[in-house]
Amino acid sequence: MLEWQNRQPFSTRFGDVYFSRDSGLAEKRHVFLQGNRLAERFASLPHGDGFAIGETGFGTGLSFLCAWQLFDEVAPSLSSLGCSLDFFSVEKYPLDDGELSNALALWPELRKYADELIARWRRRVPGWNRWSFACGRVRLTLVIGDVADALAETRSGIDAWFLDGFSPARNPGMWTQQVFESVVRASRPGATFASYTCAGEVRRGLAQAGFQVSKLPGFGRKREMLQGHLPGSPSIRTTPATAIVIGGGLAGCAAASALAMRGISVKLIERASALATGASGNPCGILHTRLSAGMNSLQRFVLASYGHALALLDEKLPVDGTVRAECGELQLAFSGEEAKRIGKLAALDWPSHILKRVDAAEASLLAGIELTHGGLWFPAGGWLVPPKMCAALAESQTITHHIGHLVESLTAADSGWRVQGRNQCEQTWSYEAEVVVVCTAYQVKSFAPLACLPLTPVRGQITALPPTPNSENLRTVVCASGYLVPSIEGMHMVGATHGFNDESIDLRASDHEENLSRLAEMSADLARVTDRDSFDARQLGGRASVRASVPGAMPLVGELSPRLYTSLGHGTRGIITAGLSGELIAAASCGQLLPLPSAVVNALAPAGRLKRENPSG
Ligand code: SAM
Repeated sequence: MLEWQNRQPFSTRFGDVYFSRDSGLAEKRHVFLQGNRLAERFASLPHGDGFAIGETGFGTGLSFLCAWQLFDEVAPSLSSLGCSLDFFSVEKYPLDDGELSNALALWPELRKYADELIARWRRRVPGWNRWSFACGRVRLTLVIGDVADALAETRSGIDAWFLDGFSPARNPGMWTQQVFESVVRASRPGATFASYTCAGEVRRGLAQAGFQVSKLPGFGRKREMLQGHLPGSPSIRTTPATAIVIGGGLAGCAAASALAMRGISVKLIERASALATGASGNPCGILHTRLSAGMNSLQRFVLASYGHALALLDEKLPVDGTVRAECGELQLAFSGEEAKRIGKLAALDWPSHILKRVDAAEASLLAGIELTHGGLWFPAGGWLVPPKMCAALAESQTITHHIGHLVESLTAADSGWRVQGRNQCEQTWSYEAEVVVVCTAYQVKSFAPLACLPLTPVRGQITALPPTPNSENLRTVVCASGYLVPSIEGMHMVGATHGFNDESIDLRASDHEENLSRLAEMSADLARVTDRDSFDARQLGGRASVRASVPGAMPLVGELSPRLYTSLGHGTRGIITAGLSGELIAAASCGQLLPLPSAVVNALAPAGRLKRENPSG
């Protein structure tokens, strides 16, 4: 649908240009940056405050990059608690990787910004995407979907709008009264908009929605453009200076990382003598996204988390074959029920960089071993070493590690919250912070405000299996009702069992046998592994740990009471969901734009769940 006319991108779907043929860059600056007076507004941002731009039509990302460049040049940047920029945009027809690179190659002066965007672009998922740039000073929330749906689910928070959706005559769907009303609803007091169009219906519609609209000289051959503002003036967003995160697993390390990216000074408290000793301590975990066709809040959360996790890992734990591998994952249609789920899911229109359907022959080729079933291929799937992920997330100048610190009480204090306990030498300690985030999986009973959360311990054991000459050829992660990871340093990992309400972490031969019995669902060759005389299940290595599960599997992420947050109940999905959960909590605690639609934010919120699941609580 994209055509190149004189090296400029042109949409054949809408019969319109992405930007002016005279100079796209000068046009974006004139219309959107000057039309919203961004240079003055960025320069006068109070210390630690943020600014949020909303855009209709991300296109090539040129407007985003221009705004980022201007912010870089004029917004105050102090080492801690500096100002940050949120850029929210919607795009129904995203360019593919090559189209985006080619379009942005037109602007050499934006190269350093464009390269960062291009690196994230391959991680895009349908729905909500949240990426950080410039060490967290700039955040992009890109919704891949229709403008009307996306704006209806956006909470208030925008200071300036770029209304940029092709001409109203060619694309009326972008300029409806419903869209204008949503723009106003998602705006802060005093918000402005700018648009290159001067169409009468747009001017009247925006005025009717609440903007005071005026005309300005347009760019180039365009005589006029529109600009407007809402009444009022916004209050300052205040970033907390201090936070305590309790729990040094993936959820805690990710929350600490997201808070630290905002310049907040974080104490990360862990009762064991090292980070990542619970379920996040397994030597190997898989990047596994189980989706189904009905896109409910859980599915939307998991999909958004998957894209976010891949981009976050690219930054923090790059693929190197030893701590992380992007070898792809096959989800096999090994049962009637799975075949049905996979069939329905594959029938949706997925970009091939997310998933595609494969038959048994193609699956076998990808895997490097003979597989009995076809299924879904996730090319970006793979495995990583969770403790390395924890360490990479928790490494920051503004995070101090308090290891061997058992928390005994959590109480409200003048400054926010007081956390008290004792260390491994039996010495008592007490810390206060404005914000507390509890990330202790199922272990919440000792925290009075959290004791009623519906969390269940689930024991899980993984098995380390020596490869056979055949299984040594496995190149991808394979999932049926369990999973098998290609051999790493001479060992496969096979997982995992689910023992509800079992908190013991002893290694059990029966659990090894259960794990190995699932290999038969993958291939006849693998089934033979379990017949071998060469080992005894009692001799096999592995690891057992306890995860936390929640009814309905939706983790408990968000504010429980003022400035007390939880990131709990990630179950088996923590590698995928911990990162975006941390980002959601950090954004909420700073009053910034949230990375997820309101329906998903509400479904994750622990406060609501407490009431629903414990009506008396
Ligand atoms: N701001 C862009 C840039 O800097 O390159 C240019 C935007 S271009 C003029 C308009 C964009 O709106 C196109 O990328 C188009 O695919 C998108 N679009 C059109 N209709 C849409 C809709 N209903 N919902 C979301 N996006 C839409």
